[in-house]
Amino acid sequence: MSIREIREQLASSALRPQRRFGQNFLHDRNMACWIVDSALQNLSLPWRVWEVGPGLGVLTALLLERGAGVRAVEIDRGLAGILRDRFRGEARFQLCEGDVLREEWPDPVADWILIGNLPYSISGPFLASLFRQRASFRRVVVTLQREVAERLVAKPRQDAYGSLSVMGQSTYRVDIRKRLPPSVFYPAPKVESALICLEPLGEVRIPPEDREDFCSFVRESFQQRRKSLGRRWSRGERRRPEELSVAEWVSAYRELRKAAPAETGGSFGLT
Ligand code: SAM
Repeated sequence: MSIREIREQLASSALRPQRRFGQNFLHDRNMACWIVDSALQNLSLPWRVWEVGPGLGVLTALLLERGAGVRAVEIDRGLAGILRDRFRGEARFQLCEGDVLREEWPDPVADWILIGNLPYSISGPFLASLFRQRASFRRVVVTLQREVAERLVAKPRQDAYGSLSVMGQSTYRVDIRKRLPPSVFYPAPKVESALICLEPLGEVRIPPEDREDFCSFVRESFQQRRKSLGRRWSRGERRRPEELSVAEWVSAYRELRKAAPAETGGSFGLT
């Protein structure tokens, strides 16, 4: 869809891009094809795709053309109306109107591919809830604000390394696939974006039933970066949170959990 077509489509429904919903519409067709190809390539059929924030349906249309089934969650009522008209009679399209942060996740998640040009305002909470899920998606291909993407791939001691890096990398292999300049969106956002791809790690580092607990542990431990971990974990760990590798976070969690099992309400001695 060109910028002119996006404008006309919105105007015909008396809509304008809503900043509060992070509405920056992708108008670069090559980029849209690239995103869809990255999501589907080398995966066997059937492709079941969960799309977050379809907007005017740029990615949705390409996914349907390629033969995927798409369940899309869109918060904006006006856009939902446009999508319903556009894909009327398309049996492989299902629209859920609502807030993805409150929506039920597809089940079983492992059969699904997650795709979306995520609205910047919800990318942090959305990713945190993704990493707390018991099961991993088959693949996750999402566009994020570049800074958030850099936090996801960051390594220990880098400035961007934090709880999001540890939570994501404990379950997924995380990769930045492409930088997207503001000019590929209408209206152009003030920040750069990046396309990231997440695929489940071959080995299970954190058992599914412990993921939520692990994420809380990591997040709380990072909250006071200045304190060395030993003081909070009541054991001889002298380093700060940003110095531990993901593997070290996983073993610290296992050890502390052995001493204070979650079912007994053990809180790792965090202070
Ligand atoms: N996918 C479209 C594209 O690439 O052109 C639109 C992307 S736009 C960056 C983000 C989309 O997410 C908008 O359609 C917006 O209305 C929708 N959105 C924002 N917050 C949402 C939420 N909490 N739940 C579901 N959709 C949301």
